Order: sequence, then structure tokens, then C-alpha cells
Amino acid sequence: IEQTALQNDKLAMLGKIAAAIAHEIRNPLTSIRGFIQLLRPYLLEVGKEEYARIILTEIDRANDIIYEFLNSSKPSAPMKQLVSIDHLIKEVVLLTESEALMRNCEIKAECYCAEHLVSIDVKQVKQVILNIIKNALDAIEEVQSERRGLIDIVTRSNGQSAEIIIKDNGKGMEKATMNRLFDPFFTTKQAGTGLGLSVSYRIVRNHNGTIRVDSQRGVGTEFIITLPLA
Ligand code: ADP
Repeated sequence: IEQTALQNDKLAMLGKIAAAIAHEIRNPLTSIRGFIQLLRPYLLEVGKEEYARIILTEIDRANDIIYEFLNSSKPSAPMKQLVSIDHLIKEVVLLTESEALMRNCEIKAECYCAEHLVSIDVKQVKQVILNIIKNALDAIEEVQSERRGLIDIVTRSNGQSAEIIIKDNGKGMEKATMNRLFDPFFTTKQAGTGLGLSVSYRIVRNHNGTIRVDSQRGVGTEFIITLPLA
């Protein structure tokens, strides 16, 4: 319980800081980016164009972090709509299928919640599912040579809430990683922001739902989201 309270405090603080500084940092970054572009020919002359490339990549990474930061400070006021969870899942699968195919991975969806409606901010909950699928694709990529990638999505309901289960056969994770999964900025990826899951956690919580994870290193990972039925 203490862990969760601490996490909630951290997330609330994150939102406030995000709103306050994100804009302020973005503007100077934009001008730095512009001037580096202008310097590029001079760097090329002295055989150091590589420096410009690195600076631009890093600026873009910083911009990505700020973009997600800003997104993460928004979920305070969800715009709720009555929708079928199955319909939403089908839309997200459609959005991710081509990317999955490119990565030689199959996405399977078995939906059993067609007539169950939930009251949700569609854009936000879609973002959550997208984040989890993207992470699954990354985790699969790292073990691709060993087996074909598979993401299994199941929806079901117990009459009170809808459950969305997203299971992958990717690299899985250790306990230590699992414990920090929802911490802002926790990432094990070279170009990761570590914000995807902390934002997802916040969105689901704002919908009075829960998000749980079960994983085994070398086997795969399962995310379980529950949302109260309307
Ligand atoms: P990012 O994707 O930018 O690293 P996230 O908050 O989305 O940020 O994820 C945090 C970390 O959780 C990832 O870096 C990864 O180590 C771990 N993770 C998340 N999803 C999975 C998964 N399906 N399989 C294995 N590890 C995962």
C-alpha cells in the first residue's frame, strides 16, 4: 500500500512539473536545433559532420521525452464516451498490424466483450493498449531469432468489469524490472523514455481501473487491465 501511495505522489508531482517546464524547454531546443542545422556545412568542412548528427538525434530524443511528458500531464480530465471494449481493441489491432507484420510478429485477438460497454476516454485508453503492444513488439524483437513473435489479446468480463489481457512471448523480465515497471523514466532501452507505462498506469487509474503484470524472463509477459463496466 505504501508503495502505491508513493507512486501516486510521484505521478502527481510528475504531472505538475511537466506542465510547468515542458514548454519552456521546448523553445530553446527548437532554436538549438535550427542553429545546429546551420552549422552543419562548417562541421562537414572539417570532417566532423558526425557531431551534428549526434546532437540532432539527442535533441530529438529530448523532444520525444517532452512530448510524452506533456501527454502524461493531460490525463487529468478524461473525455468519457460509452464504447464497446471489443470495438476499441479491434481498432488498435488494425493500427498495429502492419508494424507487427514488418517485425514478423502475429497479433491475435479473441474478444468476448462485444455487448459490454465501458465509459472511457477512447483516445487515452487506446494510448494505453498501444503502449503495451509497442513494448511487446520490442520485447519480441529481442528474442526473434529463437521463435516467431506472438501477441495474444483476450477480452472477457465478469459482469462487473471488463478485462483486457495482452500476452507476448518476448524476452520477459526479472522481478527487479517488474518492480520498477511503472516508475516514471524507468527504461531498459537505449532510446526509451520510460514514460509509456507510468502514463498508462495513470490513465487506467483515472478510469478507476487496475493494471497488473506477470512476467517470466525468457518466456514472456502478460499485462492485465481491468475497467469497470458502464
Ligand atoms: P520504454 O518503453 O520507453 O522503456 P515503458 O514505461 O513503456 O518505457 O517501459 C519500461 C520498461 O519496462 C521497458 O524499458 C522494459 O524494460 C520493460 N517492459 C515493458 N513492457 C515489457 C514487455 N512486454 N516485455 C519485457 N519488458 C517490458
